[in-house]
Amino acid sequence: MSLCRVMAFPAGSVPFSEASRIVTFLTPQGRLSALVRGVRRARSALRGVDILVEGELVAYQKDPEKLAVVREFAVRRYFPRLRETAIGLAAGSYALEVGVRFSIENDPQPRLYDHVAAALAVMDEALGQPRGDHRCLEILRVFELLALAAAGFAPQLDACRSCGRAAMKSAHLDAENGCVTCPSPLCCQRRPGRDLVLSHGTLAAMRGTLSLGGAALRSVRLDTATRRQWEHATRALIEAHLQAELRSREVLRSIAAGLLGEEA
Ligand SMILES: [Zn+2]
Repeated sequence: MSLCRVMAFPAGSVPFSEASRIVTFLTPQGRLSALVRGVRRARSALRGVDILVEGELVAYQKDPEKLAVVREFAVRRYFPRLRETAIGLAAGSYALEVGVRFSIENDPQPRLYDHVAAALAVMDEALGQPRGDHRCLEILRVFELLALAAAGFAPQLDACRSCGRAAMKSAHLDAENGCVTCPSPLCCQRRPGRDLVLSHGTLAAMRGTLSLGGAALRSVRLDTATRRQWEHATRALIEAHLQAELRSREVLRSIAAGLLGEEA
């Protein structure tokens, strides 16, 4: 029997039987699905398992072929402002879903975990400040790029993939290949409906974020136009990588649209 003790974020669950659930956890050791028994008991290990909390998870596995079982989950950190506001809940759930979808079972990705934990902490703090809702969306854009990089899918933004030119006034993003090209027809093959142009400013901010790493969550600021262009770019990169849309994105978009008058 193997026992593991790791920090973890619960990130959704499905019923397994009447009194047990299978919970998905994001951990520095990768994604972990584990059974929580005795859901209805007052002393159930599930009691602390909630969305947007970080805790210490103790789980055991009798046999590698079988599902791990949660023995204990002790909450270590709450994100109260994320949990109590609609935008916070939507933004936090989205960051967790990105983390979970980018991680693989038994494949340690401590940097991805750290980016999720830091993004949640910085957004939680921001919601206590004026314009915290705008700031959350900005932090999410930075986080998306850092998460792509931590999962090994950082886009190559330094130079045109076709001619190698580094100084580009604007660039065309090729999301499927994770690279940029000059927007001229000589270098880029435009495809209707998939054309994404990044301005010089957006390109510079994205490059800066990739070189700063986790510190960018606190320091990078984006104007609205840059943030929207960046959002289209990271969405295309994430969907190209996952070959799927993220469920929590639509919720986030509709809440952001209602609160901030952002385009839905
Ligand atoms: Zn070129």
